[in-house]
Amino acid sequence: MDTAVKDMSAEEFLRYGDRILKDIADYLAHPERYPVLSAVEPGDIKAQLPLEPPTAPESMDAILADFHQILMPGMTHWNHPGFMAYFANSSPGPGILAETLCAALNQNAMLWRTSPSATELEEVVMRWMASLLGLSESFTGVITDTASISSLLAMAAAREAIPGLNIREEGLSGRPEVPRLRIYTSDQAHSSIEKGAITLGIGQRGVRKIDTDSAFRMRPESLKASIAEDRAAGWLPFCVVATVGTTSTTSIDPVPLIADICEEEKLWLHVDAAYAGSAAVPPEFQHLLEGCDRADSMVVNPHKWLFTPMDCSVLFVKSPQRLRRAFSLVPEYLVTDSDNTATNYMDWGVQLGRRFRALKLWMIIRYFGQEGLAALVREHVRLAADFAAWIDASGQFRRTAPTPLSAVCFCAVPDKELGEAQLEAINAALMQRINQTGEVFLSHTKLNGEYTLRVAVGNIRTQQKHIERLKALLEENLPLAVAQTAPAQATPQISTASG
Ligand SMILES: *Cc1c(COP(=O)(O)O)cnc(C)c1O
Repeated sequence: MDTAVKDMSAEEFLRYGDRILKDIADYLAHPERYPVLSAVEPGDIKAQLPLEPPTAPESMDAILADFHQILMPGMTHWNHPGFMAYFANSSPGPGILAETLCAALNQNAMLWRTSPSATELEEVVMRWMASLLGLSESFTGVITDTASISSLLAMAAAREAIPGLNIREEGLSGRPEVPRLRIYTSDQAHSSIEKGAITLGIGQRGVRKIDTDSAFRMRPESLKASIAEDRAAGWLPFCVVATVGTTSTTSIDPVPLIADICEEEKLWLHVDAAYAGSAAVPPEFQHLLEGCDRADSMVVNPHKWLFTPMDCSVLFVKSPQRLRRAFSLVPEYLVTDSDNTATNYMDWGVQLGRRFRALKLWMIIRYFGQEGLAALVREHVRLAADFAAWIDASGQFRRTAPTPLSAVCFCAVPDKELGEAQLEAINAALMQRINQTGEVFLSHTKLNGEYTLRVAVGNIRTQQKHIERLKALLEENLPLAVAQTAPAQATPQISTASG
């Protein structure tokens, strides 16, 4: 009697695979059929799912039916052309197909031997990425899941590069001879820098936030003064994280000046270009990465603005030895005879098992080519400039930050007499009204304490017509947001004429 449980048969795989591929093709042809922002409430999805796992096998028909009926309504559609919140991303066809192959081959790129192709393709794709962004050939690197992890690895390498402390072996706690360590980044930096410091035992107080200028860029003179002040007070500065494309406004820190300071002060320079690194694919924007060649490490997320499905982050490093010095630990069972002649990517970070992420990035770069990727980025910058010009010309909205790339920060100011609290209420109501349409998804931030709306263009499907629709929605909804938030008694007279 044959009681062995078997995998899906080839026939069944083809039948359901065919159905799923058809569903995907249909979905990708019309993602705007779905509301971009899911309308479910917290707990709605869980309430429809059993608390206990099934004991008996279930049919693919039943599983797929629940996928469509229960899970699809709880999807926020990152593939929707109206996705303009946070930083948009994309999963184009070649990326989806690459992920399918990746799942099928199930490579584990921990050692060269456990996947020569995954390892060597990763090396090649890292070289291609440096070339696409116009970066020096002296960068090599590794693919990780997210910018948060890439920056964590870079900061760990920076910490290990501090001479004489030997933190890798001795740790940080209970050592009176180790001074407090300091990392510098701007007050606009991403929270991942602070999280990395928390993880590495540097602590939140070990991250000094440097103030920014009127365009939200780190002030190099403040950086220099802070380092001097800290040294005098007994801190040990070891790393500066500059941001090229901050998360709120996409501002670009003056990397060449920061690199000068790092050189003088012998500090590790890490550049967080998670979103904006991709802007350098069109040659006319490569100047945005000026000075980045002088960094010790730099992160760019192809899963943001390089049209690669989640997740894919690339960490460039000048000296892989310094990254390996932080992380290489080879137990006997992982020793191979190719250790001196090939790359073992497990030595470049924390995790042992690693997904074959290079495959999708390789397919995306080949399918679109440098020219295709550049054209997409260029068009997104143009759409953002078009929207920014519309804001500037309107009498009722105003930009709250410069627009160097594809994200526009703005707020509604329907009446100059309105106070800060009321403007915040109006803008929050306006955003909520627009998000409830399901046509566009916007997010917000605060700049100098002021509530600000954000439009970030970055999805491969977003076109001029979607920007036009956004403009119309803003005009239609502003008077309604004003009426909705007006104090009960003295309703102020608001002009609803469009600029
Ligand atoms: C998005 C972003 C991050 C975080 O990226 P993850 O890949 O989600 O960790 C870090 N830094 C900047 C500047 C970002 O825009």
